[in-house]
Amino acid sequence: MGNIALWWVRRDLRLHDAPALRAALKVSAAVVPVFILDPTLARAPGAAARRRFLIGGLRALDAALRTRGSYLVVREGPPLEVLEGLMTEAGASAIFAERDLTPYARRRDEMVARRLPLHLIGHPTVHPPEALVRPNGAAYRVFGAFRRAWQALPLPSTLPPPEQPLATPDGLFSLLHVEDGETKTQNNEEEFPPGEAEALRRLRAFTDGPEAPIYRYAWERDRLDREGTAKLSPYFRFGMLSPRAAAAAAVTALEKAPDAESQQSVRSWLQELIWRDFFHVLFAHEPTLRQRSLYPFGERIPWRSDPEGFAAWAEGRTGYPLVDAGMRQLRATGWMPNRVRMVAAAFLAKHLLIDWRWGEQWFIAHLLDGDPAVNGGNWQWAAGVGVDTAPYVRLFQPVVQSQRHDPYGVYVRRWVPELANVPNEYVHAPWKMPPEIQRAANCRIGIDYPAPRVTERSARQARDIFREARRR
Ligand SMILES: Cc1cc2nc3c(=O)[nH]c(=O)nc-3n(C[C@H](O)[C@H](O)[C@H](O)COP(=O)(O)OP(=O)(O)OC[C@H]3O[C@@H](n4cnc5c(N)ncnc54)[C@H](O)[C@@H]3O)c2cc1C
Repeated sequence: MGNIALWWVRRDLRLHDAPALRAALKVSAAVVPVFILDPTLARAPGAAARRRFLIGGLRALDAALRTRGSYLVVREGPPLEVLEGLMTEAGASAIFAERDLTPYARRRDEMVARRLPLHLIGHPTVHPPEALVRPNGAAYRVFGAFRRAWQALPLPSTLPPPEQPLATPDGLFSLLHVEDGETKTQNNEEEFPPGEAEALRRLRAFTDGPEAPIYRYAWERDRLDREGTAKLSPYFRFGMLSPRAAAAAAVTALEKAPDAESQQSVRSWLQELIWRDFFHVLFAHEPTLRQRSLYPFGERIPWRSDPEGFAAWAEGRTGYPLVDAGMRQLRATGWMPNRVRMVAAAFLAKHLLIDWRWGEQWFIAHLLDGDPAVNGGNWQWAAGVGVDTAPYVRLFQPVVQSQRHDPYGVYVRRWVPELANVPNEYVHAPWKMPPEIQRAANCRIGIDYPAPRVTERSARQARDIFREARRR
């Protein structure tokens, strides 16, 4: 093996638990870290917000590399061309990268590997994806079975950041020098500062110590007036945090849990990491996960072509406070709590009977953590046409969900200011307010805040339509 190698960073913007970097260092005297801004991916919807987060993450990785006498070379262009050029420029003889399971990435890597010495090492899941399939090699479609297979495997160890210098040759041009203005304008910077150091800080804050939030997760995760979750998904999305490091932190917290309830809480967080692996493996086997319902009956549902209903949903004007609050939060910040994602997604598919694919695309265009595997899988689940298909009969009634998870209306009032003065009794279903209370609350239904677009019964009708599609 030659003296200089490229470490091609893709969805692993970190130095901790970086097996591809380690492999490169093992066989080379010098390593050139490179990230390629791929025009094909930049054209994808939602690229703008995520691109700002990504650029911030690249800058953070560059800074971390500089403390090790190295730096990040950022280039733009078709990956094969960029890599060919950079190998010649740097005199490199091999490329090391972490495996990426998405269909586009696999096609790209096959093309590169046909022309260049590309070594794919590691994986973006906790366990190797090939160890997480059914005995016949197919992907699991039922989460319970997947979880059992996952839990039967020993937890893989995580690698600390490398100690040896990367010895990167000086003078290679990096676009980071000219992208300066980009990160400064981002509006989610405060809530989600990009980078590995922040990801690790959040992981520690969530899992370390006897009072760690992970011990209350099972009870607080769905409370919309509190911040009971780890808020790590954008960091997982770009590999600023290793899922193995997160699983290891959870297992340590489990060992130190003060009581049985806390243990149960840690287990429920660990289970979310298992869901993440589940959808990544599923997408690797079902590359049309974003385009086609996993089960054929999903293709027989007579979705309504209702652009107006869709616009009302997307802009937070359905008349259902919880749905509207979530959709407005999404547009304003690129974020929405999981509970509200479930309610909003099911509302589109079941109450409005609008094709889940429209919603999937809207989410991917706006979510900072927008991830094709996780988003596609969750949308199919929420619409009841994908994994664990029992959900086709499950309904999320937005009023009940709002009463249960936002009992004082803190969350809905924050994102739907028209409801600021509406009494608690009506804040989840404001159309029930008598006219004099509407006037007193400055919230006249149909004028200041929309009347509900559909009735609460409409989801039950949709359930019958789904049932019928299944029978045919
Ligand atoms: C319709 C819909 C679309 C979604 N789209 C995305 C998406 O594009 N990207 C994304 O990362 N998550 C998506 N989720 C899953 C989930 O909402 C987010 O991962 C979660 O809200 C992130 O917040 P957190 O980091 O505080 O999570 P925590 O509750 O602290 O969970 C820890 C981690 O577990 C993983 N996780 C949690 N819930 C799920 C889940 N339901 N499925 C798979 N992994 C999960 C995430 O990596 C998360 O960071 C979607 C959920 C729904 C219902």
